[in-house]
Amino acid sequence: MMGMTWIFVVVGVLASTTSAVPYPGDFLPTPKSYSGYSLLRTEPLLREDLARSLLILDGMRGIHFWKYPLVNRSSDILTSPAQLEHIQALLATLGVSHDVIIDDVKDLLAKENDVGVNGYSALEEELERANYAKTLASQDSRVTYENIGSSSEGKEIGLVKISSGGGNKPAIWIDGGMHAREWISPATATYIMSKLTNKEPASESLLSSFDFYIVPIINVDGYEWTHTGDRMWRKTRSRNNGRCIGVDPNRNWGFHWAEQGSSTDPCSDIYHGPRAFSEPETLSVARAIKARPNIKLYLTFHSYSQLWLVPYGYARNTRPVDYNELVRLAQVGKNALSATYGTSYRLGTAPDLLYPAAGGSDDWAKGSAGIKYAYCLELRDTGRYGFLLPSNQIVPTGEETFNGLAAMAKELHRTLKKQQTRPVGGPYVNADKELNSPSGGEAEYKL
Ligand SMILES: [Zn+2]
Repeated sequence: MMGMTWIFVVVGVLASTTSAVPYPGDFLPTPKSYSGYSLLRTEPLLREDLARSLLILDGMRGIHFWKYPLVNRSSDILTSPAQLEHIQALLATLGVSHDVIIDDVKDLLAKENDVGVNGYSALEEELERANYAKTLASQDSRVTYENIGSSSEGKEIGLVKISSGGGNKPAIWIDGGMHAREWISPATATYIMSKLTNKEPASESLLSSFDFYIVPIINVDGYEWTHTGDRMWRKTRSRNNGRCIGVDPNRNWGFHWAEQGSSTDPCSDIYHGPRAFSEPETLSVARAIKARPNIKLYLTFHSYSQLWLVPYGYARNTRPVDYNELVRLAQVGKNALSATYGTSYRLGTAPDLLYPAAGGSDDWAKGSAGIKYAYCLELRDTGRYGFLLPSNQIVPTGEETFNGLAAMAKELHRTLKKQQTRPVGGPYVNADKELNSPSGGEAEYKL
């Protein structure tokens, strides 16, 4: 595999841009600079009202929450030099102490990419590498590339299928790049693609038991924008008929959509969109998943925090009836991951470990698509670099995650074999309710 730098991982993203609509403010002369921005970490917010008071900063110019303010945990806030005093004054008024954990993120941005900084030169190099998935498909008969839909800006959303031999094998679905700035996510999905096709015995063995479907970058527009416009962009790039662009794609899935942990404000980074599956990116991926009923395991990659999240995330105390089985399989994966480099992950539901967040893809995969084993992995790190993970961590992150996946797949294969004599199918609730409702984007949704 070629040099592992951040610019490598654009897979087919830029392959076919058509009909991008110009929008005021789109064409910055240079990418947004984060020179002088610093990252603050508050002490744990001991009361609900403290968290709420900090939330007034959400969506303000020059301020980005890397970790949302929530009761009983610290909040990470990236701030421009112009806003620094304002935030520090607010924290002082609230009696909340803080540390400056990154002085100037510009230094990290330089370190993150050892070929060049974010910008057009990097973009040009990406264009050369844009067709990794397609190249792989042309070189290896086991790999097929499919365009499963177009983004808001008209870019292809690429799905790679890796399958050896015929037959109707159970399948594993992996996706990444839902949130634009979480670069380690598409990089890890891409790394797994390269591992699965390296013809080594471990990969061959996995391919003898499962087919793999991989969408390395769901949010193709946002991902490009983190290279050309704003490194800290999280959402899609859809136009909301208003002052703010983009929807949080991981609040946009049609299972308990628009409930806790998402926002009605189009300017918020956790805006859930005007309706479930309003975004062509989430709709295309959901449709592709539904069309493949043999998927037994769903994995989605995010960053950061090193968490292995088990459904459901939409509210507290909403564990699925087979929760313990999901935890048992996750434990196998987590142990193998940690055994690689000692990287530790915490395992549990999002409300247990973080906060409730409704409209996520793993909840939908479990609750609506009926995929028994569905997980969301928050990859490296725990906040030292956050989204700006240095490029020398791409390969180790890929290796450990692949090892976790491989161990889990083996165990799942054993489990499925045992089940062959028993009826298969999971107890799941609420399937398709949102997809079939008028607000669920069902009009465009052909299953
Ligand atoms: Zn994310």
